[in-house]
Amino acid sequence: MNIAIFGGTFDPVHLGHLAVARAAAEKFALDFIYFVPAYIPPHKQKQPITSFGHRYTMLALATAGDARFVPSLLESPDVIQSSGADASYTIDTVRRIRQRLKKKDRLFFILGMDAFADISKWRNPVDLLRECEFIVANRPGHSLADVARALPKELRPPADAIRPFLKKEAQGTLVIEGATIHLLQDVEESVSSTKIRQAVGKQSDTLGDLVGEAVADYIRKLHLYKAGEPVEEDSHKEQRGGLHLVSGSKQPSELRPPAKSE
Ligand code: ATP
Repeated sequence: MNIAIFGGTFDPVHLGHLAVARAAAEKFALDFIYFVPAYIPPHKQKQPITSFGHRYTMLALATAGDARFVPSLLESPDVIQSSGADASYTIDTVRRIRQRLKKKDRLFFILGMDAFADISKWRNPVDLLRECEFIVANRPGHSLADVARALPKELRPPADAIRPFLKKEAQGTLVIEGATIHLLQDVEESVSSTKIRQAVGKQSDTLGDLVGEAVADYIRKLHLYKAGEPVEEDSHKEQRGGLHLVSGSKQPSELRPPAKSE
């Protein structure tokens, strides 16, 4: 089986995320993609973030139409708090899934080039790159050299080896010892969650074009992102220990991939 994890803040999930997921699913024959919203993204600890509950609900609405897309509780408040971690680290999530897969299963991690550019600042990046193959959605203007340069220094090819790729558009697969990075092209959605949060107050009638109608209805109904900011009392700081989406279980059943017929 080919399984992928698509991690992010998803505040909110938008059509750019879904386009990336669809393109990855087609190109790599993915059976399932787990959309994993981070309860406390390590790199966004200082900014207000909409509650995990709202972000998860929007993901559930957005992914309902595709049997391969699974909204995930792998980084839910319950899972993170019971693990004792101070934030949601991808290496922990990847290892949690890896333990439950068969040897012959392939595990991928999907992310955008802007996020991959910071990969060396993530927790245990060398181990993470070894644990799964990466699918990086290219953003216009990035070269293959940018991909190589973003690697942690232990894995980074020497500068001389990278130089010839400066003008080469990021495409194909970069295989080096300890990392396999596939570049996903032709997904050029310029939408971002930041733009959506800023636009909600002004263009709420065209919101569906950016997030789909079900998510747009939810945002309007719950008055999310008013004045460009998430609802204050829902930010993750107030939420610690207070939100229970998983009924008592520390191991969501999603850790076992659902049967194909589900
Ligand atoms: P924000 O604007 O709040 O930073 P975002 O739109 O980048 O949010 P995230 O939830 O942070 O959304 O993104 C999850 C992952 O999806 C990241 O790896 C990001 O690079 C990728 N991503 C987001 N939007 C796009 C897009 N339009 N095209 C390709 N990748 C994207």
